[in-house]
Amino acid sequence: MLKFKRYGLGIIKGMTVTLRQLLRHPTVVQYPEQRLNTSRRIRGNELIWSRQRCTGCATCAKACPQGAIEIVTATDMKDNKFAVEKYRVDTGYCIQCGLCVEACPYDAVFLGSSYERAQYRRGDVVQTDDALLESADRPASGYFHPRLAQKMPEQTLLIDKINEKR
Ligand code: SF4
Ligand code: SF4
Repeated sequence: MLKFKRYGLGIIKGMTVTLRQLLRHPTVVQYPEQRLNTSRRIRGNELIWSRQRCTGCATCAKACPQGAIEIVTATDMKDNKFAVEKYRVDTGYCIQCGLCVEACPYDAVFLGSSYERAQYRRGDVVQTDDALLESADRPASGYFHPRLAQKMPEQTLLIDKINEKR
């Protein structure tokens, strides 16, 4: 009797949960063919850099706790800017903390929206110069940039899809 109480009831309770889930309409997304919109403030696994806005001040590199940003500039200034000769980010070290984005006084560096930038080779996670520019394939995240976030599509959640079906 004691054994039934201890194990039998537990099994029955567990089976009830299983049966209840079996009868529910499944709500899933067939990834990667279907995707939900991510958070507008996603901290993706790459950085987006603007060559136009960057003044070469290196504040981002100083703010990075991981030492992931390397910047080389010319020594003389032109139009109140240093010409950037090299801007390199090792996203293998990047922890997506966003401190470089918050530190940049010229809105020249952003976190990316992508979460699928895993690579097979270690060297391929290092991004340099033009590989860091924004493009249709590399949209910037609205992290720390609320005005940018407002223009992005609203996040979709699986729970919303479940509620739609009810
Ligand atoms: S802080 Fe901004 S402007 Fe300064 S070097 Fe970094 S990206 Fe360029
Ligand atoms: S997000 Fe953080 S770790 Fe990554 S490059 Fe910027 S400051 Fe460094």
